Amino acid sequence: MSDLNIPKTQKALIFDKIGDPLEIRQIPVPEPGPDELLVKILYTGVCHSDLHIWLGDFPLPLPTPIVGGHEGAGIVAKIGTNVKNFNVGDKAGIKWINGSCLSCDQCKLGFDQSCVATLFSGGTRHGTFQEYALVKATEAPHIPDNVDLSKIAPVLCAGVTVYRALKESNVKAGQIVAITGAGGGLGSMAIQYAKAMGMRVLALDIGAEKEKHCKKLGAEFFVDPSVETNIVEKVVTLTKGGVHGVVHVATSDKPLETAIKYVRTRGTIVLVSLPKDAKLVADVFLIVARAITIKGTIVGSRVDTDEAIEFFARGLIDIPIEIYSLKDIPEVYDRMQKGQIRGRVVVDLSK
Ligand SMILES: [Zn+2]
Ligand SMILES: [Zn+2]
Repeated sequence: MSDLNIPKTQKALIFDKIGDPLEIRQIPVPEPGPDELLVKILYTGVCHSDLHIWLGDFPLPLPTPIVGGHEGAGIVAKIGTNVKNFNVGDKAGIKWINGSCLSCDQCKLGFDQSCVATLFSGGTRHGTFQEYALVKATEAPHIPDNVDLSKIAPVLCAGVTVYRALKESNVKAGQIVAITGAGGGLGSMAIQYAKAMGMRVLALDIGAEKEKHCKKLGAEFFVDPSVETNIVEKVVTLTKGGVHGVVHVATSDKPLETAIKYVRTRGTIVLVSLPKDAKLVADVFLIVARAITIKGTIVGSRVDTDEAIEFFARGLIDIPIEIYSLKDIPEVYDRMQKGQIRGRVVVDLSK
């Protein structure tokens, strides 16, 4: 069933308990179940959620020990006996949703990202910080042959997530979307997807470096909340009346209070990032009187994933990546916590 030489053991970055040291160990290469693919991971992105999971920031009882990672891109090395939609040698992706039940209400409606019985890569089963990872074949996206696997890896979580969030913002082509934390990994992707979807972008982030970075990616306006004395007035003036929607990807809940004031009447604020213990304190009168929508969104559906990959394959998305090896992930987490990453970090599993 396989023409690839699959070893018995492989290297993986694993931790035993929340916050324990991240260690590289040799672990067995798993066998795919009847409806699964075994994917040889060539590249994997490093997402902020991987850091959150390791630190135990999410209020979820996740199992340990666990191998993190949920932005894997590679080659199908082996397929289960029931798999019909992939062949050995195909390029495939592994994302946060590793498997959905396909039969619950949400799955039936096309929201597999909200399935009641999901498997999570690097959450409830070993993820992509290893050389060989498992995924349900129905949940794995195909990756076109012409696509650079190192650059598509971050699209599989960051790209899909912001693409779905931008759809949820209801901002139309020609209208303006504000992106908080625009210079980070999610934000950088959001700027490019927004632009590709015909939206105009107002980026919010801190510092001249981030301004240069956001504008290079296509942001039309940039507002630095650390230097503006009146952020609301600045945004409303620049956009001649306020933004039509907001995608909140900043790693703090602080920007939300101002977002409610600078979004236009009938605008939508979409919550994406998951700052630890974040709370939303919102002025109910403002929300009611101005008919503002505030909503959450998590990753994207299988269709969103295919569409996000197509945007990339058509050359419309190209964010800078930094390539590291598996052993460098603790250093990457450290830089993430300090807000020092401007694009996206990708791990080359062959290094
Ligand atoms: Zn992620
Ligand atoms: Zn389901």
